[in-house]
Amino acid sequence: MYDVIIIGAGVIGASIARELSKYTLKVLVIEKENDVCEGTTSANSAIIHSGYDPEPNTKKAYYNVLGNKMYDKICQELDVSFRRNGSITIAVDDEEAKILDELVERARLNNVEVKILNQQELQEIEPNITKKAIKGLLAPTAGIINPFELNVALMENAMDNGVELSLNDKVLKISGEFGNYQVNTTKSVYHSKYLINASGVFGDEINDTINKSYFEIKARKGEYFVLDHFDNDFIKHTLFNVPSSKGKGVIVAPTTSYNYIVGPSSEFVDSKDDVSTDYITLNQIKKSATNLVDNIDYSKQIRQFAGLRAVSSTKDFVIDSPKKGFINVTGIQSPGLTAAPAIAIDVAKFIEEKELKVTYNPRRKPIVRMKNLSLEERNALVKQDPRYGNIICRCEKISEGEIVDAINRNCGATTVKGVKKRVRPGFGKCQGGFCEVSVVNILSRELNKNILDIEYGKKGSNVVSNKMGGASND
Ligand SMILES: Cc1cc2nc3c(=O)[nH]c(=O)nc-3n(C[C@H](O)[C@H](O)[C@H](O)COP(=O)(O)OP(=O)(O)OC[C@H]3O[C@@H](n4cnc5c(N)ncnc54)[C@H](O)[C@@H]3O)c2cc1C
Repeated sequence: MYDVIIIGAGVIGASIARELSKYTLKVLVIEKENDVCEGTTSANSAIIHSGYDPEPNTKKAYYNVLGNKMYDKICQELDVSFRRNGSITIAVDDEEAKILDELVERARLNNVEVKILNQQELQEIEPNITKKAIKGLLAPTAGIINPFELNVALMENAMDNGVELSLNDKVLKISGEFGNYQVNTTKSVYHSKYLINASGVFGDEINDTINKSYFEIKARKGEYFVLDHFDNDFIKHTLFNVPSSKGKGVIVAPTTSYNYIVGPSSEFVDSKDDVSTDYITLNQIKKSATNLVDNIDYSKQIRQFAGLRAVSSTKDFVIDSPKKGFINVTGIQSPGLTAAPAIAIDVAKFIEEKELKVTYNPRRKPIVRMKNLSLEERNALVKQDPRYGNIICRCEKISEGEIVDAINRNCGATTVKGVKKRVRPGFGKCQGGFCEVSVVNILSRELNKNILDIEYGKKGSNVVSNKMGGASND
């Protein structure tokens, strides 16, 4: 019997798991995929929003503003890449300029610092901004984060503090009541006193297996371009179009690893698994982005991706307990990444009997990032462990030592994509063309698994289909 079962290991489930790991509770997280961070948390704009945009007095506004303030400490404790680079929303005509003035009032109501910039100030602060820009809204507290690192780190730290994680385990049905909920999954039958539904776009379906339906979640897709590194100063702030009824609009933004992303689109889709990208939508994104930056070099693009917003019929986050001991934390669309740690604190309040654990450690073991070390530091590390001198990913300069570490930690990688999400081999220009075979071999060796069983990402995506005669397993 568990005290708490959490369904879903995205940023919401993982944040709640870490928060609950502070207490003497027996907690299990159940995830249907073969890794954490496989849903919406893996495909978004990666912005820690300042909070001027959400409608005042909504849960979105409340948790956005609180969550934003928590990120410096969290990222320090968990060694997650994060930069407060600030955001600028750009108006290119009088109508858009009027909307910026309305946003200043929203910012005041949400208690968020913003500043209006004129055309000259915009060009001074960001020389590559479009010459069409007539006015901008600067939000200095906005930041950018690595969402993969964040989701993995939250779960790793929760596990370091005693939380259990069951992967490849899809929840099929839930039943029972407070004190003894029953969770039937593809792997087992679990029991818990409390049950938390953090299953993202599928949150309404999970709720409906135990409760009367009281909200619906539709998936709204956002597609993006990813550009390679080319100039760390091309754009320093996150640049936004003026928001509309369809959302925050297109952005051009640097990432924590100095790539650039351009997107997202915003279209409802029928399937909650549809993360395809298409030429027409991507071309519309290019058009919207010309209202931010004129000279984006799309020859630098290395990938496209798409994520699904969990749009709730309540028009706000669904965070409540419709039945004693059963808590819905779903319909968490943007700014959910930002809001996650603040939401987790309030969700923990639903768990009545709990005591703080004296052994709780908020810090996770730091990550070695060879690329960021000085020559002396690198040499010292290679002397200790020569695997840090064996560069596997030449584009992102990732060593064997870093990959081995990503596999052998709590919440470690078990797939090629899992390694990529944690330490970046395959994120570069060649998209894994050179390093993928080596990563497969390292996974096979470290996990003591037959090479034929190593998957790229999702279950069944085995990379090697057959061994040629005489090939070894290393
Ligand atoms: C295009 C786009 C841009 C965005 N940009 C930003 C941004 O810049 N800043 C920001 O703050 N927010 C942003 N967001 C929002 C943010 O990404 C989400 O709010 C957040 O990732 C939601 O996390 P989650 O844990 O609720 O969902 P998910 O990450 O989807 O996690 C849910 C998990 O539940 C699992 N699951 C589902 N059903 C079951 C089942 N039956 N059994 C077991 N497991 C199950 C899934 O596999 C998944 O891993 C954006 C979202 C999108 C789509």
